[in-house]
Amino acid sequence: MKIILLGAPGAGKGTQAGIIKEKFNIPHISTGDIFRANIKNNTELGQKAKTYMDKGELVPDELVVDLVIDRLEQDDCKDGYILDGFPRTIPQAEELDKALAAKGDKIEYAINIETPDDFIINRMAGRRACVNCGATYHTSFMPPKTENICDKCGENLILRDDDKPETVKKRLEVYHDQTEPLIDYYKGTGILSSLDGTKDCEVVFAEICDVVEK
Ligand code: ADP
Ligand code: ADP
Ligand code: ZN
Repeated sequence: MKIILLGAPGAGKGTQAGIIKEKFNIPHISTGDIFRANIKNNTELGQKAKTYMDKGELVPDELVVDLVIDRLEQDDCKDGYILDGFPRTIPQAEELDKALAAKGDKIEYAINIETPDDFIINRMAGRRACVNCGATYHTSFMPPKTENICDKCGENLILRDDDKPETVKKRLEVYHDQTEPLIDYYKGTGILSSLDGTKDCEVVFAEICDVVEK
């Protein structure tokens, strides 16, 4: 099962990917998590990516595409995967399709989680993230069992720098400008499904299951 999750920052991609991963036993590949791990470990890639991420801009395609295509070559991806936060531009989508087609392979589902901007602002303000395992929480909608501690791994949770309101505004602009066109791209390839991301997490997940299990 090869799935791409589309949607604005804060639409719930990471949350849903975490549940899909557990249920279908396929890896969750988040380019944002990969960059944050590189920043934490102070790698060259991390240093480069951080300058863009801090401003709410996209990291250039050439720093992202090969990284993901290499990741998909790994053994744990052979029965499928969930891509979260990639592709984010038309060129990224084209490169991905080209690389997969060269192996006789393709993405089966592009699932667009539709969430209006005014929901996003509230979700980001309350989002708390675990930089250790990638889990996300929300102070009111999905609080951790112990305040500020990750349920899954026990690490302290953070408010991401780029989740502050000024940067969220910029990220939404970037989303509408550069990532939203992917909706038409995947409509064109015939694999798009859209669902309402404002519903409860369990309802959104049930709708994703309807798409991939039909
Ligand atoms: P969110 O889950 O809130 O949408 P992500 O964790 O996916 O945020 O991404 C955080 C930041 O990492 C983005 O704002 C962008 O700077 C960078 N990034 C992540 N994935 C990509 C990508 N595919 N292309 C370019 N930049 C990316
Ligand atoms: P994305 O990966 O698309 O940026 P996240 O999965 O990190 O989004 O979700 C953004 C924030 O919204 C998090 O704080 C998360 O706990 C919360 N959230 C996710 N899905 C829902 C939902 N269906 N209803 C309410 N809050 C949600
Ligand atoms: Zn954790």
